[in-house]
Amino acid sequence: MAFKTLDEAELSGKRALVRVDFNVPMEDGRVSDDTRLRAAKPTVDKLRAGGAKVILLAHFDRPKGKVVPSMSLGPIVEPLAKVLGVPVAFAPDCVGAKAREAVNAMRPGDVLLLENVRFHPGEEANDKAFANELAANGDLYVNDAFSAAHRAHASTEGLAHLLPAYAGEQMRLELDALDRALGNPERPVLGIVGGSKVSTKLDLLSHLVTRLDKLAIGGGMANTFLYAQGHDVGASYCEKELAETAREIIRLAGKNNCKLFLPLDVVVAEKMAPGAPARVRDPGSIDDDERILDAGPETVERLCRAMGNSKTLVWNGPLGVFEIPPFDKGTMEAARHAAKLAREGKLVAVAGGGDTVAALNAVGVVDDFTFVSTAGGAFLEWMEGKTLPGVAALLDKRLPR
Ligand code: ADP
Ligand code: MG
Repeated sequence: MAFKTLDEAELSGKRALVRVDFNVPMEDGRVSDDTRLRAAKPTVDKLRAGGAKVILLAHFDRPKGKVVPSMSLGPIVEPLAKVLGVPVAFAPDCVGAKAREAVNAMRPGDVLLLENVRFHPGEEANDKAFANELAANGDLYVNDAFSAAHRAHASTEGLAHLLPAYAGEQMRLELDALDRALGNPERPVLGIVGGSKVSTKLDLLSHLVTRLDKLAIGGGMANTFLYAQGHDVGASYCEKELAETAREIIRLAGKNNCKLFLPLDVVVAEKMAPGAPARVRDPGSIDDDERILDAGPETVERLCRAMGNSKTLVWNGPLGVFEIPPFDKGTMEAARHAAKLAREGKLVAVAGGGDTVAALNAVGVVDDFTFVSTAGGAFLEWMEGKTLPGVAALLDKRLPR
């Protein structure tokens, strides 16, 4: 591991500034999904066990550098205390006198949540003076927010240069999983990229074809590839202006010995509506009023076979309009098969992306996968081969080995 982890940190009596991701979904002022709160527990537990004072830094929503009361982290305090099983104090500002007083009142093992870092413009500007103000309340810095690591903000990047910096437990888990998926994977590695658009995943596709042994393209974006190969896609969602780009990706895959799987058959319907009458079609025989809404049975079967012949799977993007049955079928079957192979220890299965996670949750296979990243944008940027500033800043502090 190229990062300092909490195992190597001197913790006793130290003030640990911990960047977490508490940007949780809220409904009527209440936390509706506490996954991100639970994700912070291993790091908090470890710090408390070592006798540190745990000072949590987080953002919520986009207040754009101003105090927006409806974006306070206050409503997080109670649910967080419940998840952690310890009292959580709250300071109504993340810097200045209020923060300092709250920190000075802490004893080893205490947990304090500071108010939304984005209430200050210096956070997103990664302002040095603001980062210094944050750093004044800590002896060490722990970054446990992989999902915010694609942003170079004061609390995600700047602080790592001002205090001894460590990767938190969740950060470590995420980086380990991604390394197993794409950094140093067991080969052959199969990728699945689906979702609606080629345009939002161009960097992803171009990078993956240089890293993977096989890549299956599904979802709406596969329509653009079929169109690029001369097939009529009827009324399907298709970015026709990207046909040449799709052909370039096909060529790039060939050059890099990445075997591309485009749909062998597709599921079409005239309406994108629940229970709409669906038919299976060859890519070459789609009527003008038909829309491609899912992968066909042969395509899914070949994909499952490819999983069986691979050691690692990395997946982003559903194979069809999984929100609207019966067009969830391809995604469901593929997900179940990946989950089975992962459960049997035959496949390292890693997935991520907002809708992908929702789909895997709907199928109920998240726990069977080796790792499912909820990091959204950071996960995608990592998959695109980009350097994440929050991760790079931790690497800067690498110990000589
Ligand atoms: P993620 O959030 O996991 O990165 P995307 O946002 O790229 O995934 O894509 C998910 C969306 O793609 C879903 O809303 C799904 O309905 C849509 N989609 C999948 N297949 C098709 C299709 N054939 N036609 C239109 N939309 C599709
Ligand atoms: Mg999405």
